[in-house]
Amino acid sequence: MNNKIIILLGAPGAGKGTQAELLSEELGFYHFETSKMIRKKLTDIKEGDFEIVDGKKYSLLEEKNKKDSGILMSPPLINFWTKEKIKKLIKEEQGIIMNGSPRTLYEGEELIPFLKNICGTNNIQVILIDLNEKESLLRNSHRKTCELVHHTIIYDKETEKLTKCPFDGSKLVIRKDDDPKVIKVRLKQYKDRTSPLIEFFKEEELKISKINGSPAPAVVFESILKALK
Ligand SMILES: [Zn+2]
Repeated sequence: MNNKIIILLGAPGAGKGTQAELLSEELGFYHFETSKMIRKKLTDIKEGDFEIVDGKKYSLLEEKNKKDSGILMSPPLINFWTKEKIKKLIKEEQGIIMNGSPRTLYEGEELIPFLKNICGTNNIQVILIDLNEKESLLRNSHRKTCELVHHTIIYDKETEKLTKCPFDGSKLVIRKDDDPKVIKVRLKQYKDRTSPLIEFFKEEELKISKINGSPAPAVVFESILKALK
């Protein structure tokens, strides 16, 4: 399965992060996370550092300030970095799992033609992990994160009593900002921006597999592997 790209989509709480980790381990694919890439790019930057994208200069310090104050960073810059990284991975014949990217129609319109061009339509597969609103609310209001690298552990029968991160053994803490009202807003945002993206994927003739995200992570994982065959 060289040069294959898996795009993981799913509502908050559907367990995208967990599935991405499991898939990465099973298939040896690179787990691509936009947030991690951005963190790496903005480490150890100093006054005057910049990046030029399509003739426009972006100050990295300004971008970092945006990020730190919760403002969206410049999308053309993020797209540029994303494509640069993907190009490198494909050159190394590395399969890729895209976790939470593209997130918006804008990002999709930028990224999909690029991906089709470098690895072919047949090598791109979208996995949509489906979870109903009630369950998403329940899972998000009880989820835990690990202290070491902030793995998110969703709530279910298997993880209910966990006190240590299954990936690295660090302590798990319950997130305090997961207020039901905030979660509802997040769910609505997810729906609003995902539906047009899915429509776009269909227009682009990408293979889309809808997976039921309700069962235990191991069961969901089996369904994804089946869909990928
Ligand atoms: Zn962890």
